[in-house]
Amino acid sequence: MNERKKLIVAVVVIVCAIGAWVYRSMIYQPGVSDDPSLAKPWFCHRCNEGMLLTPAEFESTIGSAVHPADEADGGDTTALVMAVQCPKCSGAAVAARQCDLHKEIFDPRDADPTKRRCSKCDAPKFSIQP
Ligand SMILES: [Zn+2]
Ligand SMILES: [Zn+2]
Repeated sequence: MNERKKLIVAVVVIVCAIGAWVYRSMIYQPGVSDDPSLAKPWFCHRCNEGMLLTPAEFESTIGSAVHPADEADGGDTTALVMAVQCPKCSGAAVAARQCDLHKEIFDPRDADPTKRRCSKCDAPKFSIQP
């Protein structure tokens, strides 16, 4: 292999390395979306309110936490739920659900069974005692 060929090989290797690096940075850092249509519902039990956060707002703090309902029962660490940092109190806001009809956000794992669904869909009714 002469000097000229060695130089060409070296250039090709460098170009490939740069190309791979650019490709990697495109794949791994796509920029977290702040598209409101991708927002997910979360519920903060400390603030006692639900919120919608876009991936850009929750992605950096997402993790798992013991659900507050279980924490009160002595902290059942097997009941880990997806949680993010509440933007208001910096406590844990757990993954929640949102009523399609009323847009109310509720926690389906709330310690209080009456709060596990949308309060408007679940309007007060006569309860039948078993
Ligand atoms: Zn909060
Ligand atoms: Zn509803």
